[in-house]
Amino acid sequence: YGLAGNAYSKKALKKIFKLKKRPNKNPLIIHYENFKKAKNDVLFNEYFFKLYKKFCPGPITFVLKKNSKSKIPSLATAKLNTVAIRFPKHRGIKNILKLSNFPLAMPSANLSSRLSPVDAIDVFHEFKKKLNIIIDGGKSKIGIESTVVDLTSQPRILRPGIISSNEIRRTLKINLSKKKTKTKSPGMMKKHYSPGIPVIIGRKPKNTTDAYIVFGKTSEDSKNYFNLSKKADLKEAAANLYKIMRKIKKRGYKKIYVSKIPNSGPGIAINDRLLRASK
Ligand code: AMP
Ligand code: MG
Repeated sequence: YGLAGNAYSKKALKKIFKLKKRPNKNPLIIHYENFKKAKNDVLFNEYFFKLYKKFCPGPITFVLKKNSKSKIPSLATAKLNTVAIRFPKHRGIKNILKLSNFPLAMPSANLSSRLSPVDAIDVFHEFKKKLNIIIDGGKSKIGIESTVVDLTSQPRILRPGIISSNEIRRTLKINLSKKKTKTKSPGMMKKHYSPGIPVIIGRKPKNTTDAYIVFGKTSEDSKNYFNLSKKADLKEAAANLYKIMRKIKKRGYKKIYVSKIPNSGPGIAINDRLLRASK
């Protein structure tokens, strides 16, 4: 779920930053119906087309160099000379993008540094009556934010997601850069994806006023245990992660403890979010 505004309108962009209480140094992802509609805003390259063909529309965001003809205000890109673009798959937003003659700047529909919403009710709880319209598109299928890949030089992952670095590497047939980036991007902020209560990784809670997030088959069970996926499916775990964290907070638990989650495939993205939530 995203907070959508005309990406060419400074007024709309200002509203997005204000509503989310988002620092101006964090750029927004710009959403298009298809790559043709983005051609005046960015400079495409070979890597882009390979990944676009394989994964779009879908949960992957590309950072590309900004086109000098672009009408995107610098506010949307945090004054960077790059633009992050995405082509969403959901039928509802696809139809809206088809009907509008401008792209949509659309960060996740949550207050800055908090959990991304995964259904329309989450969005309502986040902003209450500050939003005039919430479009209910059902529960998010993937449940975590898009993979962000920087294609402005040797490709590298800026934010892990369901589309893994391995899949990207196999599609591009090159090794990805591991270089640490200086590019400002919100998904890379150390503290992010916070449920609003402390998160402690790799340990068990000592008392029942704290919640315990577990994964796979467990020998014990208790009211304060929340299982991301009983059948140990990492994709299912990613889809459940934010919903479970919101539920725990709502039930009044003081802290969230999390058991170890395998660090492979979608587990890499899950652990990335958990680590930032624990900061
Ligand atoms: P969200 O606010 O949850 O939609 O996350 C926005 C994501 O967009 C961040 O994780 C950034 O990695 C990414 N992003 C947006 N614009 C840029 C950019 N120009 N350069 C690098 N990353 C960007
Ligand atoms: Mg976000």
